[in-house]
Amino acid sequence: MSIPDNDRIADPLDRAAAETESMITAALSFRKPTGPLPIGECHNCGAPLVDGLRWCNKACCDDWEKEERKLAAAERE
Ligand SMILES: [Zn+2]
Repeated sequence: MSIPDNDRIADPLDRAAAETESMITAALSFRKPTGPLPIGECHNCGAPLVDGLRWCNKACCDDWEKEERKLAAAERE
């Protein structure tokens, strides 16, 4: 009996929690309730994408959002 019971029980639960959290983070970063509709290409760089995607990756999404915020701020003035 060299392994304490706690280790056997906690490990799979911790792993499941971490996986769930990273799945939710990924889903949120690509499925925002607001923003443009998918147009078959990246809104930031224009690269062709499969249906339903709006940016090729998180970096493109972040760049696009930065530009949008700049435009929104300029419109308010
Ligand atoms: Zn892109």
